[in-house]
Amino acid sequence: MPELPEVETIRRDLTPRIVGRTVVEAWVSPDAPRLVQSETPESFCRRLAGRAVEELDRRGKYLLLRLDGGLTWIVHLRMTGGLIHLPAGRHDLPPPKADGTRNDCPDERYLRARFRLDDGGELCYVDLRKLGTMWLVADESSVVGKLGPEPLGEAFDPQEMRRLLAKRSAPVKSVLMDQHAVAGIGNIYADESLFEAGIRPTKAARRLSRVAAERLHWAIRKVLVEALADRGSSFRDYVDAEGEQGMYQLRVKVFRRTGEPCYVCGTAIKRIKVGGRSTHYCPKCQR
Ligand SMILES: [Zn+2]
Repeated sequence: MPELPEVETIRRDLTPRIVGRTVVEAWVSPDAPRLVQSETPESFCRRLAGRAVEELDRRGKYLLLRLDGGLTWIVHLRMTGGLIHLPAGRHDLPPPKADGTRNDCPDERYLRARFRLDDGGELCYVDLRKLGTMWLVADESSVVGKLGPEPLGEAFDPQEMRRLLAKRSAPVKSVLMDQHAVAGIGNIYADESLFEAGIRPTKAARRLSRVAAERLHWAIRKVLVEALADRGSSFRDYVDAEGEQGMYQLRVKVFRRTGEPCYVCGTAIKRIKVGGRSTHYCPKCQR
């Protein structure tokens, strides 16, 4: 479940490896018919071949590979997608892990697309559940145009946070996860930010006080910056561009800690559903 810190880690890792490189050949597996959204896989591969990557950007959970000729190759990893870079001379993905439970994404079985580069390197797209999506478009806004502000960007200030919450009667957690409200936050960082801010996930967004909204703004930034420093979280499938796991899962305070004692007050962490998603919180610290 790559969220902003994981996608940004991949972006930073891939930038020196693929910017300036040309895609020599593209291949999409026939067992991933929904991977390419903008056209048929054949057309996508044909149009991508020969294009140079000029810039690697990110919007929310989307990776934007800007190509020469004014095209953008957009990648959304969804639940279990990963982009692994293999340098020249290495053509094999890591073998399956013996325990079969962790880090099981980057192996050959889940290879859904590969992109050969002009320096002999290769970009491999792996996806266990095959929910990831790609586009090749001239107009980026057709895919990412409706996303909310970047939570680590300048436009996202405490006033903007208050404005986003004020008009919504939905639970505050659902608003945080709404990509049209703010881009890049998913289940892990919504739960962790709400714990950090001391706010109950089920509370109606518009009922948050001015102080609470500003505390939430601060908490989101703190959690995302720390997760970026840890190169993201790896609960099951997420791996970076080298196939390595992040470390933030060792630092989470509520996410998937159901029944374990809160680090602040010792109360057992509760798990409920909010908007259909598992939600973890401390009943004492979060009001
Ligand atoms: Zn607590």
